[in-house]
Amino acid sequence: MVFVAEPLTSMPQVGIWHYVFSNPNNISLDKPLMIDGITGNHLTYGQVKSNSLRFRAGLHKFGFKKGDALCLFSQNKVDYAVVMFGTVAAGGALTPANPAYTAKELQYQLEQTKSKIVIASAETLAVALEAAKLAGIPKSNVFLFDDREIDGVQPYTKVLLADQEMEAVEYTYEEACSTIAYLCFSSGTTGRSKGVMTSHMNIASNLTQLSQHTKGTVDVATDRYLGVLPFYHIYGLTCMIHLAAFQGTPLVVLPRFELASFLNAIATHRVTFCHIVPPIFILLAKDPSVTKYDLSCVRYFWSGAAPLSKELSEAVAQRLNVGVLQGYGMTESSPVSHTPILSNIINGSIGELLPGMKARIVDESGKDVAPGERGELWMAGPNIMLGYLNMPDATAETIDKDGYLHTGDVAIMTEDKQWYIVDRVKELIKYKGFQVAPAELEALLLTYENVADCAIIGVYDPSQATELPRAYIKLVLGVEASDATAKAIIDSVAKSVANHKKLRGGVRFIAEIPKSAAGKILRKELRELANQEMKAS
Ligand code: AMP
Repeated sequence: MVFVAEPLTSMPQVGIWHYVFSNPNNISLDKPLMIDGITGNHLTYGQVKSNSLRFRAGLHKFGFKKGDALCLFSQNKVDYAVVMFGTVAAGGALTPANPAYTAKELQYQLEQTKSKIVIASAETLAVALEAAKLAGIPKSNVFLFDDREIDGVQPYTKVLLADQEMEAVEYTYEEACSTIAYLCFSSGTTGRSKGVMTSHMNIASNLTQLSQHTKGTVDVATDRYLGVLPFYHIYGLTCMIHLAAFQGTPLVVLPRFELASFLNAIATHRVTFCHIVPPIFILLAKDPSVTKYDLSCVRYFWSGAAPLSKELSEAVAQRLNVGVLQGYGMTESSPVSHTPILSNIINGSIGELLPGMKARIVDESGKDVAPGERGELWMAGPNIMLGYLNMPDATAETIDKDGYLHTGDVAIMTEDKQWYIVDRVKELIKYKGFQVAPAELEALLLTYENVADCAIIGVYDPSQATELPRAYIKLVLGVEASDATAKAIIDSVAKSVANHKKLRGGVRFIAEIPKSAAGKILRKELRELANQEMKAS
């Protein structure tokens, strides 16, 4: 059965810059919009808008053209929004990169997106320079996301923030549908990380869908969001930066998650609405320091990016006397496809399908299952990506001819139209909400001379509410399967990849990697093996 959600009552007709700054709530230009959660310094609504147009002018002068890509490689900062909106105002695509990346990982993203300009923070500058060199980007096109100069690298504020504003590029509806605004990276259902082509209309639609679905939820006069999750991920990009600017809801920005500064920022800035991920819920449910802070300002904690159990939702709701909401989505759906309405929160559920979307739940042969039965979730709507950059085959494998995105997640829809995610059939592993692509770690391990074959799966650690990447390895004949060999492999991987991809789930040696006749790794068998081991321990 095709489930069709309620229609969208209106549809954006313009590019994302014009849509975001259409100011539906008549926000005053003086209202603080992006607030530094540590220093309290802020940019007002008017400054974010004006600076984005000054940045757009600076890009124009620098020779950045429509269709060019700019890579922002930084932890969260208040002026992230300026660079983001300025780039799309200039007709370009912003590709935000994980600040934990190694130079090789960043090089891949720069090359895939053919980035013209890189903006890096003081912390990420050394890696950015190395990656830019590897990707053939001149040092003069690398800028500092700061006011100072370091090692001859100019601050973006000096070169790219012009004195005068320049109007944002305008798009017709058709152009807004077909023009790439953002290139976040996701492995999707299989293989390595890919550039997700998110159009202006994809994001504008998701803002409209969320606004219609959650109408009356946010009081822009009093509500404040928290921006602690990384802005380079689509969850931060849409649900924090875009939503905050579109509604005019202040966003309290933290550079990274650290429990004390997180709790302190909520209490100090009287945050009312926090977007977080399940591992943070564990701390909120259990950590003794939580009760030392006055968190009575919080109305809702909203979870996304990974499964949040009913038990954990209830534990936090009771301990802190707050509402707990869980949404669901993917980078490929810009990102939100499901979230509850406030009058009907059911712990453990991801709520309802957003307006303007349709969805199916299918068995392995692609046939619809009966209501209440489990199957793979397929979904279509105006928020589904244009496709994967430079990868038409991967796009065709993920979006079918009828426009349905095959999510690789297993879902159930109950008769009262509540949706639940109950399993995942795709390879993807999520460590604390961060994507780990098994194919990438497997390719790395196969370069090791001791490794004859390997497979990576995620093993769930309930104490941290997250999966941990684990390697199953067939060693080359004659190499000893010892703790020392395992440790050497774990340490070596840790040196080559970003922090979240480390083999925290350990290494297990195995005589043969289970594979299908076609040579496909049978990950299900490995997951069963891991479950048996867990039960036995
Ligand atoms: P990303 O593209 O990084 O946002 O990852 C999307 C994937 O995260 C989904 O396909 C799911 O596997 C997982 N995910 C996101 N939200 C949830 C949720 N509420 N419950 C279970 N899995 C989720």
